[in-house]
Amino acid sequence: MVSVSTWTSPEIDARIVALKQTGLSHAQIAREIVAEFRVFVNKNMVLRRARTILGIDRGEKAANERLEAKRKAEKAALEPKAPKTRPMAMPPPTVTLPPLASALAPLPVPPTPAPLGNGKCAFPLWSNGAPISHEYCNERTPLGSSWCATHHAVVYHRVSTRAA
Ligand SMILES: [Zn+2]
Repeated sequence: MVSVSTWTSPEIDARIVALKQTGLSHAQIAREIVAEFRVFVNKNMVLRRARTILGIDRGEKAANERLEAKRKAEKAALEPKAPKTRPMAMPPPTVTLPPLASALAPLPVPPTPAPLGNGKCAFPLWSNGAPISHEYCNERTPLGSSWCATHHAVVYHRVSTRAA
């Protein structure tokens, strides 16, 4: 395979240009070059060489560069506007969530057992699972205890049974 660099020469380049100016096709030019310079070239090789000589490739490249520069210029022209469209001057959004219902509602009041140490047994007299009647044993209790002796045994029996 003959590479481009071995078949080209200033003379051949000049001949290609001259032949192109006569209006010959690249295939016709290739035949002329083969005949005149005894080198093997085909129309594609002549086409590539002609483009190189005549600066068509460079011209296309330059045209592409001009196009790219134009695109960049247009883009650059748009860039400064972009920040202005950003809502930079807007205050940060104020978070105004409604207060939670739990914050507004009064704290749930637990069913009030008899306070500790009031001297009365706080054992509830309503049965397990029944509506709260707030009726308590009310027997006298030892000082500081919430239960009379009977219910103290019941309560602590339950607790120890549950804990076991
Ligand atoms: Zn009791």
